[in-house]
Amino acid sequence: AAASGEQPAQREATIVGAGLAGALMATLLAQRGWKVEVYESRGDPRIHGFAGGRSINLALAERGLHALRAADADRDVLAQAVMMRGRMVHPADGGTPQLQRYGRDDSEVIWSVSRGELNITLIDAAEAAGATLHFDRRLEAVDFAAQRAFYRGGGGLHRVGFQTLIGCDGAGSTLRAQMRQRADLGERIDWLGHGYKELEIPPAADGGFRIEPNALHIWPRGRYMCIALPNDERTFTVTLFMAMQDEGKGDPSFETVPDATAARALFERDFPDALPLIPELDHDFEANPIGTLGTLYLDRWHLGGHAVLIGDAAHAMVPFHGQGMNCAFEDCVALARHLDATPDLATAYAAFEAERMPDAAAIQKMALDNYIEMRDLVDDPGFLLQRELELALQARHPTRFIPHYAMVTFMRIPYSLALERSEVQRGILEAATQGVASVAEVDLEAVDREVLRSLPPLADIP
Ligand code: FAD
Repeated sequence: AAASGEQPAQREATIVGAGLAGALMATLLAQRGWKVEVYESRGDPRIHGFAGGRSINLALAERGLHALRAADADRDVLAQAVMMRGRMVHPADGGTPQLQRYGRDDSEVIWSVSRGELNITLIDAAEAAGATLHFDRRLEAVDFAAQRAFYRGGGGLHRVGFQTLIGCDGAGSTLRAQMRQRADLGERIDWLGHGYKELEIPPAADGGFRIEPNALHIWPRGRYMCIALPNDERTFTVTLFMAMQDEGKGDPSFETVPDATAARALFERDFPDALPLIPELDHDFEANPIGTLGTLYLDRWHLGGHAVLIGDAAHAMVPFHGQGMNCAFEDCVALARHLDATPDLATAYAAFEAERMPDAAAIQKMALDNYIEMRDLVDDPGFLLQRELELALQARHPTRFIPHYAMVTFMRIPYSLALERSEVQRGILEAATQGVASVAEVDLEAVDREVLRSLPPLADIP
């Protein structure tokens, strides 16, 4: 076409879902000159506000920020974000909470962002880049052979043609269900058996934050926990995580704590310093739903060039590493890169899947492992000793020994590589801290030899 002087045809995509991944994907493709149509089942949040009207927040880290930079949305998002320097761990006896920094200094932090505000910023960015958004349009069915999709909304069923569908419709994806009717996707879901309930800490009487704002608060209690993330309107969103059903180990569960009275008793016993911060505990506990948690695995994310799944639709995970959105945003950047590299959609989708599937599996595993760390280990002396040694080894070998949390949160190396190196590092830390009470007792020279032997410098890794 270029030789004959014709313009190449404009590339077209239909995106299902204008949530976090959908709105960012729309922005990235529209910026590249694609014709982008987006169908979202909910109403326009800029008009209707967010469903439920509750403040719900997420931890944004370097992978997500990098994707937002690519869409030129990072400044707007950070302007509304609250910095979190580390974990503020609240002991069971109600004693003074302690801050455990995530990184070495304030260049290594994460950000608490409002899901609603972030989504609106990205929807605005998608429209500004030239994408067309259709709200109140729920994907119901797809005729892949005829390349037509059916959307319900506005009192009717709408039949619309498509070139290709990009599924950003979240963990309960309808597009995935439609693809499954055409091909075996190898879908399986591992339910965690634990769920969550959101509660709120309102601002103090003087309008400020009631507790330290620049931290992610954790009340670890062994097999269950509470966490709290700050919102820029001076509130905190508290999330209580515990088993759905009684596990017979004497721990609370949503079965044994079914109502506000039982929840109040649980807080009096296990979260005494949090209870006075949550004046509407009874209301929040009764009114807010119990969220369920699981990990979604697929063997296939695309159907030739007809459709591809990204974000939670492809690989929903438990939220304990704060990486689901960050990973979904990284997917958007990777998919745009593969689409840039070839005009053939099936080739681009296959290359995207080959690159990202091992990484999604790695962060899914690390997210499951992190539940144990958050609820049980963060106040454990052995864990704290390993954490101290980790920082000492990072100072001695800055390109080789990078703490697990830093590789996932502050770097953009593939998740699969972060997992592989974390496993080697964990082995080194466990061996070195066997039977010792402080870092001073560790044989650092022997550990150095092991680091040099088993961890190549990260800069040398392609
Ligand atoms: P979603 O955000 O679910 O968006 C899907 C969109 O598709 C929605 O707008 C929906 O209305 C729309 N839709 C659904 N069905 C249809 C349909 N049939 N037709 C049209 N539209 C449809 N991640 C982090 O990175 N950091 C965190 O701190 C963090 N904390 C979390 C805490 C909890 C309790 C949970 C549950 C998750 C957390 N996550 C976190 C994960 C994060 O929320 C998800 O990974 C992220 O929202 C995925 O984005 P998505 O766009 O793929 O899906």
